[in-house]
Amino acid sequence: MIELPQQLVKIGAQATSKEDAIQQVVGLLAAAGNVDPAYIGGMRERETQANTYLGSGVAIPHGTPDSRHLIHRTGIAVLQVPAGVNWGEDADGPVHLVIGIAAASDEHLQILRRLTRVLGDEKLVEKLWTTPEAGDIIEALTGERPSAPPQAPRLGESQQPEQAQMLSGLPYSAQVTLPNPQGMHARPATMLAGMVKKAGGTVRLTRENGKSANATKLMEMLSLGLTQGTPLTVSSDNAELLKQVVDAIQAGLGDDLSLTSPPAGPPPSKRTPEWMPKSVGATVEGVNAADGLVVGFTRQHAPKPLIVTDQAGDPAQEAEKLDAAIKAADADLDNVISDVHAKFGADKAAIFGAHKELLADEGTIQDAVAKVLDGHGAAFAYQQATNERIDQLKKLDDPTLAARAIDLSDVQRRVLRHLLGIKEENVDTGGPVILLAPDLTPSDTARLGPDTLLGFATAQGGPTSHTAIIARGLGLPAIVATGDGVLDVPDGTLAILDGSAGNLYLNPSEADVAAAKERMAVLAAEREKARAARHEPGATKDGKRVEVAANINRASAAADALDAGAEGVGLMRTEFLFLERDSIPTEDDQEQEYRAMAAALGDKPLIIRTLDIGGDKEVPYLGLAREDNSFLGIRGIRLCFERPDLFLPQLRAIIRVAKDHPNVHVMFPMIATLEDFRRARATFDEVRQELGVGHVPLGVMIEVPSAALMAEQLAPEVDFFSVGTNDLTQYTLAMDRMHPQLARQTDAMHPAVLQLIKLTVDAAQRHGKWVGVCGGAAGDDVGCLMLAGLGVKELSVSTPQIAGVKAALRNRTSAELQELATRALAQTDAAAVRALVKG
Ligand code: PEP
Ligand code: MG
Repeated sequence: MIELPQQLVKIGAQATSKEDAIQQVVGLLAAAGNVDPAYIGGMRERETQANTYLGSGVAIPHGTPDSRHLIHRTGIAVLQVPAGVNWGEDADGPVHLVIGIAAASDEHLQILRRLTRVLGDEKLVEKLWTTPEAGDIIEALTGERPSAPPQAPRLGESQQPEQAQMLSGLPYSAQVTLPNPQGMHARPATMLAGMVKKAGGTVRLTRENGKSANATKLMEMLSLGLTQGTPLTVSSDNAELLKQVVDAIQAGLGDDLSLTSPPAGPPPSKRTPEWMPKSVGATVEGVNAADGLVVGFTRQHAPKPLIVTDQAGDPAQEAEKLDAAIKAADADLDNVISDVHAKFGADKAAIFGAHKELLADEGTIQDAVAKVLDGHGAAFAYQQATNERIDQLKKLDDPTLAARAIDLSDVQRRVLRHLLGIKEENVDTGGPVILLAPDLTPSDTARLGPDTLLGFATAQGGPTSHTAIIARGLGLPAIVATGDGVLDVPDGTLAILDGSAGNLYLNPSEADVAAAKERMAVLAAEREKARAARHEPGATKDGKRVEVAANINRASAAADALDAGAEGVGLMRTEFLFLERDSIPTEDDQEQEYRAMAAALGDKPLIIRTLDIGGDKEVPYLGLAREDNSFLGIRGIRLCFERPDLFLPQLRAIIRVAKDHPNVHVMFPMIATLEDFRRARATFDEVRQELGVGHVPLGVMIEVPSAALMAEQLAPEVDFFSVGTNDLTQYTLAMDRMHPQLARQTDAMHPAVLQLIKLTVDAAQRHGKWVGVCGGAAGDDVGCLMLAGLGVKELSVSTPQIAGVKAALRNRTSAELQELATRALAQTDAAAVRALVKG
């Protein structure tokens, strides 16, 4: 962040004219050694080209590019003129803040971006016109109040390869080798940028080829194309910060250095096809991105180009527009994240977490703002700024890093759509087809589904692209990087797509279609076998029962769940009744929904969880206070204690239904202490007695480590436990479940989490109670086995997972599962636990 020392802010100045003000501001910059006094010529020249009045009594005189050689050091100076000074005809009033800019590079743009925000706050700007405190201006422009003078670097700690010092101009440097298996991708780069920004120093990364990047700028770092093993010079103005950064890089910046594969699961590599057609019109070879075999007709999909013309406008207004579009895109991404999280899980949602980071990249925004201030329209400026970065990424040698270009294009389109007022395009396939496209954005892919797609082939992209990762999540065959030839395939061409082999076969013979279908039949038979047995009770090979239930939130989903083999509903997340509307559902509304669900299930158990709002589940209309640590704050049962106006009607609605439906069970989320449970139960019992209803089975969700550790004390007082592995994992490992950089490590198969589940099961068994699991681990192919081995009696999973989980249980004896679980508890990390099953 650029500094604005006190001596560069002049409070209470008088200026007789614009020329006088410019002279004074250049005087400040020259006196501080930022510019040669002759720089004033550049500023005067700029005023003849464009008025530098920004709005709200603020002007930003700055030199022309030709005068840059007169700048010794980037800086800004502020002249406050309380009485105002005339800035010419284009200004809508006198100027009270003259912000002189001497920009050798683009560091000053952070301030300009801030300035556009400040301009939006009329009261603040007006205060700055007259404030006697230079600190107010410094804080508004830099985000920080001036404090003690910056710490002088300590002597003796420097390891300074001369060349690096020469390159970076920074006094301290050290050599490291990048250890990250996937190179410097968005997550580690974001972590590094955050660390440097927080420390407030300057850090540059320089490659052996001399290319260097400011470590606070995500895109600059990505553009270096740093792959695993790249030697790197890290330079800084602060020896301590340098050490911190070097340590963090060596520790992997949040990446798991033991992995050699990409984060979201290894993509299948090109292998010898298990099946090949004999006579086809043509074979389009690509790289396999997701396994599977389909036969169908092709259809091209080319996203409509967003036409951006450079519509120059008032820079302040354009900057505001850009700001609003970025905020709107950020809000969109929050919705996409919760949607993808619900559909495909946290790891896929993390992809869009990374999009938020690309969106927030300071360097890109500054660049766009600079273009706006140079008189370009917001859409044009943003497109240019992002295009430059997309092009840089595309050129990188490393396919994983190059694949991030499509992520940035996705983010770019999102922002441009807001700026141009264009709605998100639907990928209209006209029915299930094999989609052919230059590339698909992760957003497109996340909105596609088996009802619109049989599979896809893209000309560009890579197997580690986020698009490919989502395709694997969808269970659709996909190939990528076929080259542009695929774009010439006419719509309606009969084709066989073999995701496993990475090939698209065009115009196959009838015999080949028949053979492909036979092969598909074999694959489907395995899935079908599981499906056919879906109504069998969940049990191990030797007949030990493990109920497999569904996590559904709406009565309308009950029929599908039952048809998929659900033996009940192990988790009804009632907050969705609140989240999917814009006002609080009444007691009657709620009763209706719970009653419909209980009735749909007949005598199968229904576990209704009371409201779990807070954390990642925000309900805007409830007007809840924002919390710094929402996952650790007033969430779940804690909110219910605070808000009897929400809790009591819900309890009444549930209990009225329980009166007529003995299958209703109730459980409380986010119980951290015995006291929490007793308090919740006391309220529940009061309402129950008021309504004259007898016993309703009550359970506690084990989501907080303290609850697991207190299971022995809780067990005598509850009817059952249900482990929420999503939260239990986040709280045990202290890793935000939505955190894009931590998503891969936030694995419920970590032995620490398994230990807590074992404690819970053992305590429950001692008191004759049962334990279920309703978090994501229950539906995981390794998780379901480990949990059953630990003695869990019910696994509640998403509807499509039911048949597979039952089939997996049926394949192993209870002794085998127990043995697996015992070995899992002795492992040192989640990867080792998974390896016990996957080999
Ligand atoms: C969990 O935490 O595992 C759980 C099932 O609850 P939710 O995902 O709704 O927080
Ligand atoms: Mg939870």
